[in-house]
Amino acid sequence: MNKLTIRDIEVGGKRVLVRADFNVPLNENTGVITDDSRIRATLPTIKYLIDRKARVILCSHLGRPKGRVVEKLRLSQLLGQRVEVAPHRSLGPEVEKEVEKLKGGDVLLLENLRFHPEEEENAPSFAQALARLADIYVNDAFGASHRAHASIVGVANYLPAVAGLLLEKEIKVLEGILANPAHPFAELAGGAKISDKITVLENTLGKLDCLLIGGGMAATFLKAKSYQVGLSLVEDDKLDFAAKLMKEAAERGVRLLLPVDVVIADKVSAEARVRVVSVEEIPTDWRIVDIGPQTIDSFSEELRRCKTVFWNGPMGVYEIAKFAQGTQAMAKLLASLKATTVVGGGSTAEVVTAMKLADKMSFVSTGGGASLRFLGGERLPGIEVLLERKG
Ligand code: ADP
Ligand code: MG
Repeated sequence: MNKLTIRDIEVGGKRVLVRADFNVPLNENTGVITDDSRIRATLPTIKYLIDRKARVILCSHLGRPKGRVVEKLRLSQLLGQRVEVAPHRSLGPEVEKEVEKLKGGDVLLLENLRFHPEEEENAPSFAQALARLADIYVNDAFGASHRAHASIVGVANYLPAVAGLLLEKEIKVLEGILANPAHPFAELAGGAKISDKITVLENTLGKLDCLLIGGGMAATFLKAKSYQVGLSLVEDDKLDFAAKLMKEAAERGVRLLLPVDVVIADKVSAEARVRVVSVEEIPTDWRIVDIGPQTIDSFSEELRRCKTVFWNGPMGVYEIAKFAQGTQAMAKLLASLKATTVVGGGSTAEVVTAMKLADKMSFVSTGGGASLRFLGGERLPGIEVLLERKG
């Protein structure tokens, strides 16, 4: 990685502003955090700073709640120390006073950045207000690094800006699978739509030995091969892309596997009638909701041979338990491999975490959209602004 990290600069006694991604999922009724992985993922950075007696100022956005920070309690439990919350919504003299009170190793959490429209507008005045609180800026929010917001991009104009340990890890792992993956290298692709994944598929195809396609997007590939897919989710404007990708895969000697059998349903609901059929036998008024057992077997056999696997996108409508078998089977299989296994994508990471298999993977990206963009070859603004390593 050609960016400086917190290990490359003196942080002791300094005021360090850490942009974290604490945008955790919450129970809609109780407001309780349902998955704290994103908070846990930033602990190495926070602990590193605490150990060196930096004065730590954390900030994050939290998408859903109208209310105030909810991460304080969990963070405080995980760190085993007090975490203060800056009591004021707007930045300014009051918050600066709170920062002045911090001693080496103390932690202060700023209020939800989403309270400020200037955050998403990347307003210089807001970036400056953030910068005034600190001596050093640390980006540890990989999942927000594709957004040119004030706390991601703007603030780096006014402070020395370096990567946190999570950001560093995300970049190293994803760069690693792009630059020199151990072969055979497979990508297991699923999820709802091809349109979200086009750049990733295009950018990685040349490095792959094998591309396995399940999930909603498989229907478009099947249709491009003239199969009847009934009422399945099809992106008609992506049929040409699907055909082109299959042709390119063949030319480059990449094995491309599509489902050979599928779980179909007469509606997308837990009460639906369900059948397993070969992809040649999909009735016109049914839809694909999962990969079938033979496909699970053929995908598994292929993946067992691989030394690197990148997985993005569930194999079926996993939110409904009876359509989750393909996705769960792939999660278990990847967890059992000795290969380097990297999981990206919000839903995919959620499944793996809910199944308590995250520790069994080499890496589960906290990045969602950011990891797909990175693997798609895009430069992320929040990484671009960090200080370069010289020499
Ligand atoms: P990720 O967040 O991991 O990148 P996506 O956002 O691309 O994954 O896709 C997740 C969604 O894909 C899920 O909501 C799931 O229900 C949907 N999905 C998977 N298979 C199908 C299918 N056969 N038909 C419709 N939707 C599907
Ligand atoms: Mg998603």
